[in-house]
Amino acid sequence: MKNQSLFWEARADWFNSVGREQRIRDYIALANQLIWQRQASFFAAAMLAAFYFNPITTFACYIVVALTELLDQSLGRHSKAWDGKDPAIGKKILKRIALNTAVSALSISVFIVNIAIQQTSGGHFTPLFFLFSASLFAVMYNSQMIGILLLRLSIYALAFLSIAFLDVLRYLPPLSSNIWLEFFTIIFVLYFIIDISAKFYVRYQERLDQMKLIKEENERTKAALEVKSQFLATVSHELRTPLTSIMGSLELVNHGALGEVPEKLKPVIGIAAKNGKRLADLIDDLLDLQKIEAGEMEFHFKPISVNDLVNEAVESTTGYADKLGIQVTTVPCLHDCRILGDYSRLMQVMNNLLSNALKFSDEDGVVEVRAEILGARIRISVHDEGIGIPKDAKDRVFGKFAQVDSSDVRKVGGTGLGLNISKQIVQRHNATIDYVSELGVGSTFYIEFDRLSDAEGESTDISPVAEVA
Ligand code: ADP
Repeated sequence: MKNQSLFWEARADWFNSVGREQRIRDYIALANQLIWQRQASFFAAAMLAAFYFNPITTFACYIVVALTELLDQSLGRHSKAWDGKDPAIGKKILKRIALNTAVSALSISVFIVNIAIQQTSGGHFTPLFFLFSASLFAVMYNSQMIGILLLRLSIYALAFLSIAFLDVLRYLPPLSSNIWLEFFTIIFVLYFIIDISAKFYVRYQERLDQMKLIKEENERTKAALEVKSQFLATVSHELRTPLTSIMGSLELVNHGALGEVPEKLKPVIGIAAKNGKRLADLIDDLLDLQKIEAGEMEFHFKPISVNDLVNEAVESTTGYADKLGIQVTTVPCLHDCRILGDYSRLMQVMNNLLSNALKFSDEDGVVEVRAEILGARIRISVHDEGIGIPKDAKDRVFGKFAQVDSSDVRKVGGTGLGLNISKQIVQRHNATIDYVSELGVGSTFYIEFDRLSDAEGESTDISPVAEVA
């Protein structure tokens, strides 16, 4: 019992705060959306009534309805400025909606009942049909606010009953008369309208509940992501520091700084150093990823010579290429091609592309790095004759922790993060990264940047526009 009342309290609380704002906004948005549809039906009904019935009362009612429409419009503008925070404003808007509804429903009802009064024979098909349409319209589009809907429907119900009783009281007919048949039909239609309005309301209510659930779920997911990100950052930092000292010590041992290393120990120390490097790479990638996701990775943009970038990247991988017996050739950009970029971040991207090209190439293979102008763009491509990438693997290649090749063909390990990080770095440069590849034939990864014009590229100072962190 207690739980149930708590539930209703919570529900009422929510209804009054979050719900009210949403409902008012939905109500006004829909009212504005349907304005021309409503105007067309009012106008058509008024024309019909003016032609067949009393034009003066018809136009008087029509003008009042049109006025309530104008009031609705001004209310819509007024409530747009409401940020939903001040409940007093919300109450004021609600009161004005209720007042507008009462005036509009009353004038529509007076207009319709007036037609019925003027009909002295043959039933009241026209006014009843008008009333039925108006009620259905309200049920379909006013279910956001049950109070407002009930207000409008109650006024229409009174109009229905007035029409129902009009001929019964006017002619006092026997029960077998058609007048009573019309009376009972009206009662049946009333019941029908109440029934479907309840259904529309329940459906709208369910939609709101679902929206609330989705919002809560979204907030929970955001909080979990935040925690994950913090956790990753802390763990990575805590691992990176001791690992650096372990790697340093291994290096000292390896280079004989602490004395001659016994032959038996050398392979073990080699394995430790290699795995230490893999671990360090993984941690660096994780730290980079976390920084990018948190929007904390800083970029210092400067005009960069693409040929310098390519040459330095190729030089830095020479040792690795020699070890694998792979020849790396460069085809420089013929002009002094310049782009705006963060040199060290782009070096990271180039190193990633080059080391991938090397590690997925066969021994004695060739890797070619080319820089070229393509209209207003500059393309840097890294081409290899390696194992290639299967079709439809683009999402995985640029995804996180994704490795497309099977582990048995893998010469060197990897984190599966390099290209994901590269893509995000490239995107921060307003550039694009992509590849073409054929299994067993090779791959070409390419990045395309906007080219800096000569005038823009002349100055190597950081211009205020260029320095974007
Ligand atoms: P990894 O650290 O595994 O190299 P990347 O994000 O750099 O991670 O690359 C993702 C995957 O894309 C690689 O594991 C590999 O399967 C595929 N790949 C990337 N570059 C090449 C290439 N040049 N040739 C063949 N496969 C490649």
